[in-house]
Amino acid sequence: MTVADHINENLSSSEKRMKRKWRNRNEISVEELAEGIGKQDRTLLAQAITLIESTSNKHVIKAQELIRKILPFTGRSVRIAVTGVPGAGKSTFIEALGTLLCEQGNRVAVLAVDPSSSISGGSILADKTRMETLATNKHAFIRPTPSRGQLGGVGRNTRETILLCEAAGYNIILIETVGVGQSEGIVRSMVDCFLLLVLTGAGDDLQTIKKGVIELSDIIVVNKADGNNKPKAQVTAKDYNRILHYFTPMTPGWTPKAVTASSLHKDDIDIIWDLIQAFIEDTKSSGFFDKRRQEQKKEWMYFAIKDYLEIDFFANKKIKGYLPRVEKNVIDGIQPVTLAVKELVDLYLYGK
Ligand code: GDP
Repeated sequence: MTVADHINENLSSSEKRMKRKWRNRNEISVEELAEGIGKQDRTLLAQAITLIESTSNKHVIKAQELIRKILPFTGRSVRIAVTGVPGAGKSTFIEALGTLLCEQGNRVAVLAVDPSSSISGGSILADKTRMETLATNKHAFIRPTPSRGQLGGVGRNTRETILLCEAAGYNIILIETVGVGQSEGIVRSMVDCFLLLVLTGAGDDLQTIKKGVIELSDIIVVNKADGNNKPKAQVTAKDYNRILHYFTPMTPGWTPKAVTASSLHKDDIDIIWDLIQAFIEDTKSSGFFDKRRQEQKKEWMYFAIKDYLEIDFFANKKIKGYLPRVEKNVIDGIQPVTLAVKELVDLYLYGK
């Protein structure tokens, strides 16, 4: 047996199919992708995600066709955001929670929204190596940081990736994002439950943490509640619980709660899961769960309209040619901004 034969023999059926396709220089079809996702094929799921991340026109059309096909099989998951400053313990926490959920028979997908990747091209989130146990769990699917792009585009990719994962049978979607910049707002608009990880002391206490992020949160986890740090973490959690009453709750009918945990030692992770479940049950019985999902879809549609128009506007050849002159006129005070915009939009819409 040759080495090639040996490799061939050990390929899964989907890998063999992909190999055949590549050999034929043919791309895998939308039907094959949809069918593969329905059969919970991870290789095809990963390929479908790459497809929706592509900005090439041909791929965008194909991706939308795929999304339309899988849409009836989406929505049946709990979508949870995990945010916090770098070092708060997000990946350690996701590793602990994700493993627990898999042990309980769930299928868990971990995605990342990373503002740093759109700015610097680098990334600080969700590398596979940072969740080693979960990455090898066959009930978990970890998608490393999305490819580069504008934060808006990354938001769209993540929303569609959620749908693909749901169609592939993942019933819990964890979305990791770093607690800097505007990514939290975007992530809040795509999840059911928003979890904030904080630390005690070390410049991450009540005074210094960004107030806006607390207001987005349904559950606050004071992480690293172990060793000498445990009593301090408990005091911090109490402090949070005291002030959380004064915020307008992000989720009507639910007062955000702060709890302690040690992600490293896997302490109280089950209590946090109970709390998330209580939150989901509460919002489902009040009707807010469905209402929020509907609102999110509506919001996404209007965001997508603006996104589409903006991209199309700046890609317009006439606009590209004319824009530098108009910009200079505005800077030099020759042309008022409103008039300049009207002229540009007329040029875009009517070609003159
Ligand atoms: P992230 O940047 O928010 O994803 O944080 P990481 O999960 O990478 O954790 C940052 C550091 O904190 C790592 O060295 C972890 O081992 C450590 N860490 C995370 N959770 C805990 C915890 O519960 N207790 C302790 N003592 N250390 C932790």
